[in-house]
Amino acid sequence: MQRSFVPVAAESHFPIQNLPFGVFSTAERPEPRIGVRIGDFVLDLREMEHRGFFRDVFGDEHVLCKRSLNKFMGRGREAWRAVRRTLTQLLSEDCATLRDDAALRAAVLVPAETVRMHLPCEIGDYTDFYSSREHATNVGKMFRGEANALLPNWTWLPVGYHGRSSSIGVSPQEIRRPLGQSNPKDEPTPQFGPSRMMDFELEVGALIGPGNAQGEPIPVGAALDHVFGLVLVNDWSARDIQKWEYVPLGPFLAKNFATTISPWVVPMEALAPFACAGPKQEPEPLAYLRDASAAPTFDIRLEAQLRTPTMREWDVICRTNFRNLYWSIAQQVAHHTVGGCNLRPGDLLASGTISGAAADSYGSLLELAWRGERPLTLSNGEKRASLQDGDELTLSGWCDGVGYRVGFGECSGRITPALSG
Ligand code: CA
Repeated sequence: MQRSFVPVAAESHFPIQNLPFGVFSTAERPEPRIGVRIGDFVLDLREMEHRGFFRDVFGDEHVLCKRSLNKFMGRGREAWRAVRRTLTQLLSEDCATLRDDAALRAAVLVPAETVRMHLPCEIGDYTDFYSSREHATNVGKMFRGEANALLPNWTWLPVGYHGRSSSIGVSPQEIRRPLGQSNPKDEPTPQFGPSRMMDFELEVGALIGPGNAQGEPIPVGAALDHVFGLVLVNDWSARDIQKWEYVPLGPFLAKNFATTISPWVVPMEALAPFACAGPKQEPEPLAYLRDASAAPTFDIRLEAQLRTPTMREWDVICRTNFRNLYWSIAQQVAHHTVGGCNLRPGDLLASGTISGAAADSYGSLLELAWRGERPLTLSNGEKRASLQDGDELTLSGWCDGVGYRVGFGECSGRITPALSG
């Protein structure tokens, strides 16, 4: 097994097999810069590029000493692979360049505990899918009954909506409880005030690399060439606002107040060893959505943990897996662009809430507490059917390799009280 000279704990999400990209700053150097995570350190790619380490990839052009990853993301797979090869070589235990140069190490390796993370890229557009059959079925049962749980279009296309990119932030975040309209008892007049049904949604997001020209769809077989990497996504949701506003055009203010992503973008190449088969697709998708790959998805274990203000430890409230998703990322990309819509570097395509078949694998409190009918009992005896002020919710995800983990780190947020009045 390949190892780095940088010590990496066995349970670390960030061994040399991962090397995720992010944007960070420190108190001494507050300008955001691109870095790569290795163990408990961040390798400063701005400093590395200034020292000429990527000249064989980019010549004299500056691609990695930027405030965001967009330019690098737009360069495509060959450039990503070349940079990854260089980084893997420089960080390996057999390579003396960094390992034996204390001055260079001090200049380019930053302790992770001292960094502040920023959004990894400028996210121009954000799309949220609805691709877990279990989630769509659960929500359908609650709102339309068992017989009409899954609407007829669902098995034919990856249902989605265009979200809001301006309110996407990076973990850890404070999430202010939103104000809005709701009408919980279907009265003639709705009420206005703080949402009383705050929820999370456990999702994984794909960040787009090279885009496509408007009018030129991305074929499903080439779709993953357009994906730079994956992050965890928490699509914070105000269920009471959602229930009143969503007809007929879908979510609006119930979702647009905040979305949190994890700071480290895990490259597709690091996820390749964990590619696997997805659920059987029946009926067979239309030709433009037919994915010939035998392993179109990824075996990524996912968890949601909750901690209320009176708890010291976290409770794991959901364990699920990315492979449960019915529609693959490639199918989402193909469908998104088939009408001619152009994607751009940095666009975020979120998977939709990822629920499994088991009752503890549901990726939202709406499902875990079944619309409030079965509130969760936490380890300290408190009950939750929705998030209360001060509650903290953390998503995590990782792939288990033999002797190592490729992980996403954490995606965390804490609910703070609504504005008064
Ligand atoms: Ca969602």
